[in-house]
Amino acid sequence: MQSLHLSGLSQTELAEFVAGLGEPAYRARQIFAGLHQRRLRSFDELTDLPKELRAKLSARSTASTLALESRYLSADGTRRYLMKTHDGFPVETVFIPEERRDTICFSSQSGCPLQCTFCLTAQLGLLRNLTAGEIVEQIIIALNDAYGVSVKAPRGTNLVGMGAGEPFLNFEALMKAIRIMAEPHGLYIVPRRVTVSTAGIVPRIRELATIPDRPHLAVSLAAPADELRNKLMPINKKWPLTELLGACKDFQKALKPGERFTFEYVMLDGVNDSDEQARQLANLLNRHELRAKVNLIPHNPAEPLSYQPSPPERVELFREILESKGVHAFVRRPRGRDILAACGQLAARAANPAQTVSDFAPAQVESLAI
Ligand code: SAH
Repeated sequence: MQSLHLSGLSQTELAEFVAGLGEPAYRARQIFAGLHQRRLRSFDELTDLPKELRAKLSARSTASTLALESRYLSADGTRRYLMKTHDGFPVETVFIPEERRDTICFSSQSGCPLQCTFCLTAQLGLLRNLTAGEIVEQIIIALNDAYGVSVKAPRGTNLVGMGAGEPFLNFEALMKAIRIMAEPHGLYIVPRRVTVSTAGIVPRIRELATIPDRPHLAVSLAAPADELRNKLMPINKKWPLTELLGACKDFQKALKPGERFTFEYVMLDGVNDSDEQARQLANLLNRHELRAKVNLIPHNPAEPLSYQPSPPERVELFREILESKGVHAFVRRPRGRDILAACGQLAARAANPAQTVSDFAPAQVESLAI
C-alpha cells in the first residue's frame, strides 16, 4: 500500500488531514504552499515546519511519488521527461519552450486503452489511470527542471492534456488535478491556461459543458467520415461522428467568452489528406454548424507505425480548401520529434544517448527558447 500522496489533495482535504494530526490549520496552508507554490518534493525541504511535524508527515504520507528516470533534449529546445510511478509504470511529460509562454504537455494515463492506429502510445495498451497527485507532480517536475526549484515561471505556463492516455477516461482525477493546480496559493495555473484533448468520449464532453471552471476543449477527428474514422480511431464505433459532433454542437452553445474549442486533425499521407477529404471535412463541420477552428497536425512518424506525414504542400492545400469553405484551419508545427516527444510518440522509449541529459542547468532553457 502506498502512503497518502499529499500533492494530490485539495486544500480542504489537506486541512482535514492536518487537523487529524492534531495540528493547527495554518500548518496545512504552509504545507500546501511548500508543495505547490514552492514546488518542494520532500518534507525535509519544508524547513518552515518543526522537525517533529516533518517526521510525523513522513511517517504517514509522502510529498512525491514519481521518480524521474530520464530526460531528453531536442534540437528545438523541447524536453521530454520519462518518469516512473511508485508501482513501476511509465509516465511521460513534455516541456515545450515557446516565444510567448512555455507549454507543458502532461499525461493522464500510463499507456492508453484507445487503439488509434497512428499513435504509438496505443501500442502500450492501458497500464493504469494516473492519480490527481501524479498529474500535478508531472507539472512540478517539469517546472523545476526548466526554471529551477521554487523559481516562478517567467512568462506563466500553459498546460495541454495531450500526452499519453485519454484524459476523459480518467475524468475525475483529471478535473481534481486541474482544480488543485488552479489554487492561487499553489501552482496558480488557471483553467483558461489549460487545454484538454479527447478522442471523443461523448458523455464527458457533455459533462464538461456543465462545469463552470473548465479547461479549453480540443477534439481529435482524424477523418471526415465514419468509415475511415472507425479504422483510424476505433472509439468511433462507440460514438460515431453524428453523436460526437452533436455533443460538440451543444458544447459550442455553452461556450463562454474567451473560451477556446478546437478540432485536431492528424495528417496521414495518402490516407486522410486528399482535396476531396478536405471538402468532406468542411461540409461535415458546416452541416453541424460548428465554427471551431481546426488544427492540422502533420503525422509524427515512429516505428512500427506504417504512416507517413503528409507533405507540407499537401497540408497547405488541405488548409486552403478548408478556409475556402469558411473553416478556419492552422498548421501545427511539430516539436520534439527527434526525441520522440511529439504528439503520438509517447511510448516510454529511450531516445538517442546523445540527447539524454544527465545534468543541465535550468538557465539553459532561456537560450534554448525559440
Ligand atoms: N487521447 C487524447 C489525447 C492524446 S493525443 C486524444 O486523442 O485527443 C493528442 C493529439 O495527438 C490527438 O489529436 C491525436 O490525434 C494526435 N496524435 C496521435 N498520434 C499522432 C501522431 N503520430 N502524429 C501526430 N499527431 C498524433
